[in-house]
Amino acid sequence: MASRPILRRRRRTKIIATIGPASANPEMLHKLFLAGADVFRLNFSHGSHDDHDKSFAMIRDLEKKLGRPIGILADVQGPKLRVGRFSGGRVQLQTGKSLQLDLNPTPGDVSRVQLAHPEILAAASIGTNLLLDDGKLRLRVTRVRPDHLMTEIVTGGMLSDRKGVNVPDMVLPIPALTEKDRLDLDFALEHGADYIGLSFVQRAEDVAEAKEIAAGRAWIMSKIEKPQALDQLDAILALSDCVMVARGDLGVELPPEEVPLAQKRIVRAARQLGCPVVVATQMLESMIAAPAPTRAEASDVATAVFDGADAVMLSAETAAGQYPVEAVNIMDRIVARVEQDPGWRAIIESNRPEPEHSVADAIAAAARQVAHTIAAPVICSFSLSGATARRAARERPEAPIIGLTPLESTARRLAVVWGVHGVVTTEVHSMTETVSRSCRIALQEGFAKHGEHVVVIAGVPFGQAGTTNALRVAVVK
Ligand code: PEP
Repeated sequence: MASRPILRRRRRTKIIATIGPASANPEMLHKLFLAGADVFRLNFSHGSHDDHDKSFAMIRDLEKKLGRPIGILADVQGPKLRVGRFSGGRVQLQTGKSLQLDLNPTPGDVSRVQLAHPEILAAASIGTNLLLDDGKLRLRVTRVRPDHLMTEIVTGGMLSDRKGVNVPDMVLPIPALTEKDRLDLDFALEHGADYIGLSFVQRAEDVAEAKEIAAGRAWIMSKIEKPQALDQLDAILALSDCVMVARGDLGVELPPEEVPLAQKRIVRAARQLGCPVVVATQMLESMIAAPAPTRAEASDVATAVFDGADAVMLSAETAAGQYPVEAVNIMDRIVARVEQDPGWRAIIESNRPEPEHSVADAIAAAARQVAHTIAAPVICSFSLSGATARRAARERPEAPIIGLTPLESTARRLAVVWGVHGVVTTEVHSMTETVSRSCRIALQEGFAKHGEHVVVIAGVPFGQAGTTNALRVAVVK
């Protein structure tokens, strides 16, 4: 282990890269990690269990080879509504004409197509808007019958088989987990996923249900992509282990001018709670087909970093694009560059949430202050569950945080947390041992040099989650 190259990031904001046909092979995963991917996302909207099984195995092999924990996000599809098929594969829908949506599986045409969701037919009313194919086409309901909806085509265009349907006006009368999701969830948990991406969360109950199934085996990452989730944001965040601003579907359901405000609101609320928050989708979209991003995309990534997001995510750029490594590399450069700017530090400081009235927060806040005052190069946090490192990260300290833990699962989960470098180590039994271990690992991992101060936080008695109550300053010998 001591002879392996030092693999520490030079930035605090983490990077998630989605795996797909362009990246699901050992060489590419290795390159993506070296370029800066901290977490790999498996998108269960695509690919078979066999494909995902291979990806799990390849990522865990890479982890072993590199000696660094890697987070795996299993993103389940959720109740994504879709139209059925057309006899010619697609139709050109004319604005002003009518289109019937019904339960009939016969391939459709310009006058009708299947919408195999009786619950939606039952819940729709005259005037309900339906958005098709990521919002490119719009229908408005003009008649409701038990077995069909008649709609007016408000915005026409080409519609092909199985395109997605969004219904922004209503809380869908369906649970966040479909039968397919339940199978995917079991599969992902059995394969050791670190986070479950829960799509189309609408209510806190959706999160509660997934948490019950996960039973602590993975963090639940609630994807905020329905306006209805924004109405219940506080309750959803209170139950979620982490959260994603899923701007793809959110941007279909909300008018474009609302999306930046929703992003800021979600990031602010999550930071307040110390709930890791990911900003996702279309961050470097043009890099699917080009080796460099647009300047507007670079600014978009920078905005998420200025907002204080824990992580930024790449989707098709790394899953299906022509330049996956370049995309991660450029994202890494943008994040690192922003974080070197004194203006970024000033903004992060000005948005720091107050510590809550708990011993753990008092210690986390003190660790940041002490590290700042003595210019310590690192804060070391010992914890079983990772809660101490998360509270320290909520403070957004200048010093990076080493999240030491005896649990591999915790070290992996910390891969998504702002500023935390997870390290697996054996259990400690005393504060003296905690301090000496911290110094040794800070040195080994390239975070501190001989003679420098290290701030150590931990919970006594050891081996008990949720007891953060001790702070020590030690000199690396
Ligand atoms: C999104 O909609 O932004 C998102 C991340 O979800 P998916 O890619 O699964 O549609």
